[in-house]
Amino acid sequence: MASASATISFPKTSMTSFHAHLKQYKRIVAFLGAGLSSSSGLIAYHGVGTGGSRHGHEFEALSSVKAFSETPRIVLEYHEERRRQARGVQPNAAHEAIAALARVKGSADFVAIDMNIDGLCSRAGLPKDQNLEIHGNLFDAKCSKPDCDYFKEGFFNDEYSTMARRGLPRCPRCASDLRPAVVWFGENLRKDAVDAAKAFLAKDEPIDLILVIGTTAQVWPAAGFVDSAIDKGASVAMVNVDRGSLVPEGGALGLTAKDWYFVGDPADMVPRLLAPLIGNRYIRL
Ligand SMILES: [Zn+2]
Repeated sequence: MASASATISFPKTSMTSFHAHLKQYKRIVAFLGAGLSSSSGLIAYHGVGTGGSRHGHEFEALSSVKAFSETPRIVLEYHEERRRQARGVQPNAAHEAIAALARVKGSADFVAIDMNIDGLCSRAGLPKDQNLEIHGNLFDAKCSKPDCDYFKEGFFNDEYSTMARRGLPRCPRCASDLRPAVVWFGENLRKDAVDAAKAFLAKDEPIDLILVIGTTAQVWPAAGFVDSAIDKGASVAMVNVDRGSLVPEGGALGLTAKDWYFVGDPADMVPRLLAPLIGNRYIRL
C-alpha cells in the first residue's frame, strides 16, 4: 500500500498555494461546463458535452437536424422552454467572477471556452470576444439550409417569446426555416468560437492556467481544448461540486502535482479562488 501510494501525484487542494501561483500567471483559459449554470439553479441537460441528467432523453430527441426537419414546431417550442428556464435564473457569483477576470486580463490574456448555451456568461458581463460559446447560444438564430450562412444574434428575444402565435421563422435571405444557433447531436462545434479558441491557444506564448469549472472535461472533442492548454504548459485547476465517479485521486484525468482540484459549489469557490486578481467583492457571504 505504502509503496503504491507513494508513486501517485495528487492534484493540490490548497487555496493558499493556488493564490501564490495565480499572481504569477499571465495567460489564462476558463473551460466552462453545466455545473456552472447548475449553481444558478438551471437544470443540467445531457447535451453535447454537458454531462448526464434525467432530461437527457428529451434533449436528445429534440436536438437534432432530423427532429427539426420532421417536427420543427415541437423543436422550436422545446428550445423556447429552455430559454424560459434560462431567463428565470440569474448569473451567479462564479459567472460574475469570470467576467471580472476577463476585464482584468483583457482579450490577449484570457478567454472562456463555454459549453453552456444559456447566455448566462454574457448576462454577467463577459465581453463577447472573450466568450467563446462553442455549443452556440439558445437566443441566436441561424438558417437551417446548410449552404446559407445567415445568422442573427439574439433573434429569439423577449419579443419573439411573447408573440401570441409564433409562426415558423424564415430566413430573410433564402426563405428556409430559421433554427436555434446551437450545436445539435451529430453537428460540429461552432466554428467561429472554435477558431478563436484555437487562435488563443496557438499564440506563441505559453498558457499558464486552465480553469475547468462545472465539468469533468471528459467529452471530446470539446475536452481537447484542455489537452491543448496542458500541451502549452498550463496547470489545471478544476472546480466541481463533487468529485464524481470519473474524477480521480490523481492521474486518471492527467492531473499531476502541478494541478489543483477544488470541491465545492462554483458560485462559492470561483470568487474566492480568483480574489487575488479581481478583489473580494464577488465572494458570497
Ligand atoms: Zn438562409
